[in-house]
Amino acid sequence: MKYTSTRNSGTETVSFDQAVSLGLAPDGGLYVPVAFPTLDVSSEDLAKASQETTLAPFAKLALKPFVKGSAIAKEFDSICEAAFDFPVPLKAIAQHPGLSVLELFHGPTAAFKDVGARFLAQTLARLSKLEGRRRTILVATSGDTGGAVASAFADQNEVSVLILYPKGKISARQEHQLTAMGSRVRALATTGSFDDCQALVKAALADEDLVKTHGLASANSISVGRLLPQMAYHAKASLQMMAKHGKPATFVIPTGNLGNATAALWAKKAGFPIKHVVLATNANRTLPDYFETGRNTARPTISTLANAMDVSAPSNFERLLNLYSEAHGSSLTELKTEVSALSVPDDEIKKAIQNGPQQYHEIWCPHTAAGVVAFEKTGSKIPTVIAATAHPAKFETIVEPLVGHSVPVPASLAEILKRPSVRHEFEPNLANLSAELDRFLA
Ligand SMILES: *Cc1c(COP(=O)(O)O)cnc(C)c1O
Repeated sequence: MKYTSTRNSGTETVSFDQAVSLGLAPDGGLYVPVAFPTLDVSSEDLAKASQETTLAPFAKLALKPFVKGSAIAKEFDSICEAAFDFPVPLKAIAQHPGLSVLELFHGPTAAFKDVGARFLAQTLARLSKLEGRRRTILVATSGDTGGAVASAFADQNEVSVLILYPKGKISARQEHQLTAMGSRVRALATTGSFDDCQALVKAALADEDLVKTHGLASANSISVGRLLPQMAYHAKASLQMMAKHGKPATFVIPTGNLGNATAALWAKKAGFPIKHVVLATNANRTLPDYFETGRNTARPTISTLANAMDVSAPSNFERLLNLYSEAHGSSLTELKTEVSALSVPDDEIKKAIQNGPQQYHEIWCPHTAAGVVAFEKTGSKIPTVIAATAHPAKFETIVEPLVGHSVPVPASLAEILKRPSVRHEFEPNLANLSAELDRFLA
């Protein structure tokens, strides 16, 4: 299986290993499969694996064509077993026959980003071992991504992680998750904003000397190593819905950078029975506006209750356009029939969280709540799957006042919150970062 950049038409290709190592293509584009494999989605093996509680047996079968020819192909089964060792349940909602919620928050940091981060960590660690060189992952985080990456890489000897986050601008629980991951993961409480952190990470990754000396790499959400594993749970849920309801389901996906939704559309492209994908955004309405006007105009980012979706220029937009282009035998007309987008403002997110216990017997996180509103507003077509992207206890300061009681913290997250936390104050400039890397990796 070969990958190519969204910015060249398949003329230059790389292997899965190169795509994962590089993260972003040298021309600034994102890596996509040159051609999607079509799987025999009605095979007995897939049907059987789709009924298992954990994702590993299914992912091994469904994702294998995507790593064909890779140096880690032989270790692929054990990568899946190590990465996907928690349940990803599809829960039917009794009050709404035909509606199910795909709970993506049973991993160590209680959000769907665990799935992609853990697969990437396993893959990069094994590549590093095979190549006999260490890697250092640099991440800037505004909250959730850093926690998932820190936890995923914590036990990988071949890889160290340096995380930059804006001091005082993330929640106490989020900070604890970044700073309690042991000696291989160093968290820098940085003066300035998230954008300052991100700018410094970009500058460091563009500095050839630094990259070479420290084996710097990115674990950014644009990595194919994070996107591919996310296909697996959408594909698995699509077969479960098909078996139960006899027709393909619509998927409603809370959307920010468009990674999770692109993964669902890749699964559809590979042949899995997904009828339609609804992108539920918060008040940042770049995507809904694009579907309405055909124009992609980024505006300043608005802060919302669903803050992991506070994105005005979705980084995977190029992948969406690439999927619905001639390169994959498709067109923008098809995009409009297969995908739609809806913006959900904060007041409606609040109302959905408030009404969740009574209407659905569920407590929603603010991101999932946006999905629930989108489901209701798009005519509540069934069968439908709503992706539940985070556990409500991660956003307790928003959710608890609205539902009127405390939300128990899941065991894996509670375990992390009990560990001692170590943080380092940091002034963001390249010279400081270089010195920090020397100290950290000495
Ligand atoms: C990251 C995140 C999202 C947005 O996912 P994208 O892949 O960026 O579209 C939604 N909900 C939660 C809880 C997240 O952490």
